[in-house]
Amino acid sequence: MRATANIPQPRTPAPRTGEPWQDHGACRGVPSEKFFSPDNERGRARDRRVLAAKLVCARCPVLRPCRDHALRTAEPHGIWGGLDERERAELRARGTTPAAH
Ligand code: SF4
Repeated sequence: MRATANIPQPRTPAPRTGEPWQDHGACRGVPSEKFFSPDNERGRARDRRVLAAKLVCARCPVLRPCRDHALRTAEPHGIWGGLDERERAELRARGTTPAAH
């Protein structure tokens, strides 16, 4: 047996969804404060953090299931699937919500 079999993988910044795609996110090992707004964050600091998170998502192999999960479950906080809170709310308001699996 290989010694690496039981080495824990880096976690994603988001809470666990229980779905296997999350183990393949490009955000594994990224601190959660990069994807979730700290208290009192405003303006350019927020814009910079959101852009940096979206750039991670842009190279993520599981962007689609992550985005679908966030839209389907109406995740209220954070960057999921390359979308911020406002963008997800707009899509939901337009009825752009993926079907349940
Ligand atoms: S799409 Fe973004 S938030 Fe979702 S798993 Fe990938 S890197 Fe993480």
